[in-house]
Amino acid sequence: MKRIKGTPLSAALVLFLTGLLCVLSGKSFLSMHRPEPIFPSSHLSQVKRLSDYFAELKNSPGDTEIYIFRGEEKGGNLLVLGGTHPNEPAGMVTAVLLIETLRARRGSIFIIPRANASGFTHSDPQEGNPQRFSIPTPSGSRLFRLGSRLTNPVDQWPDPAIYINPPGQKLSGMEARNLNRCYPGRAHGNLTEKIAFGIMELIRKERLDIAIDLHESAPEYPVINAIVFHENSAELAALAVLDLQMEGFEIRLEASPSNLRGLSHREWGDNTGIKALLLETPNASHGRLKGRPSSSLIVDGRDKFYARAARFGWLFVPYGEEGIPLSQRVARHLAALGALLGSLAELEPDKTIELERMPPPAEVQKKGLGAFLHPPD
Ligand SMILES: [Zn+2]
Repeated sequence: MKRIKGTPLSAALVLFLTGLLCVLSGKSFLSMHRPEPIFPSSHLSQVKRLSDYFAELKNSPGDTEIYIFRGEEKGGNLLVLGGTHPNEPAGMVTAVLLIETLRARRGSIFIIPRANASGFTHSDPQEGNPQRFSIPTPSGSRLFRLGSRLTNPVDQWPDPAIYINPPGQKLSGMEARNLNRCYPGRAHGNLTEKIAFGIMELIRKERLDIAIDLHESAPEYPVINAIVFHENSAELAALAVLDLQMEGFEIRLEASPSNLRGLSHREWGDNTGIKALLLETPNASHGRLKGRPSSSLIVDGRDKFYARAARFGWLFVPYGEEGIPLSQRVARHLAALGALLGSLAELEPDKTIELERMPPPAEVQKKGLGAFLHPPD
């Protein structure tokens, strides 16, 4: 084999190309710090920030927007949280869809689309995930970031060897950056604990009645297509599941385990008495059995390896060749939200929350998300 001999010129060229590659990939990675635009509906009442409820978060990477819709009539107060885990896109996209379409008639709704804002500024290492995914609308595509399950290590470092969370549960060190293990938070704790504390302050100061944390899980994970409920919301969740089954949505009920501490559905309920619930939809893009990660895997949810795993009976959800698209996962979140509000009105009429213009779940499944999202700027 002939050896290729380097010259000072070829060395300079390789050095230049390496430098260029570093600059371009660095710029692309840093662009994850720019939040995607959200175009609120004209019925939005107010945008606040988490730091308005817990000043320690001001100018920190943990601060995030809260979109508030207040109805003309008095009723209950609801919190919807997307983006607790920024690698579970249905939660954030459902929150954005609500912000861009809603009008509250009775009661109020507080929506946080990017609960862990820091988690959206980086991606999970060694996963090969795309930094963004794109949802087509009739007048162009909307781009959204796919972040990480955890707070960016640039914002919170180092991880302890063992993390003891605020309620005293021992967890592996990196869970110190998992917002859904840090409740009820610590006012003087690490950044993720401060975000959790800020959310608790919002619940207390706005006297919220019910809070729903939107998630996704891998198809091979048993808690999936589920409503996880705190015991104070058992009746509410059971009634909602009956409604959902009549609408054709199979959703299972999972009681929040009382010995699993630090999670939203446990600590929100225990510490404030609020009705606390968490919703899970199936997302192949963060499962372990998937093929090549891509923007289309996130949006179309089609993966031949998951379809094969389903045939072997390895999954906890039906998963065919057609996959489980993001529109279907968002529709499930919307249907569950609608059913929970219907049950709340039945069980506690004075806490009724009536939302208008919420995209009908069946239409979202049929027409896709782009038919309801605001067109790109
Ligand atoms: Zn999650």
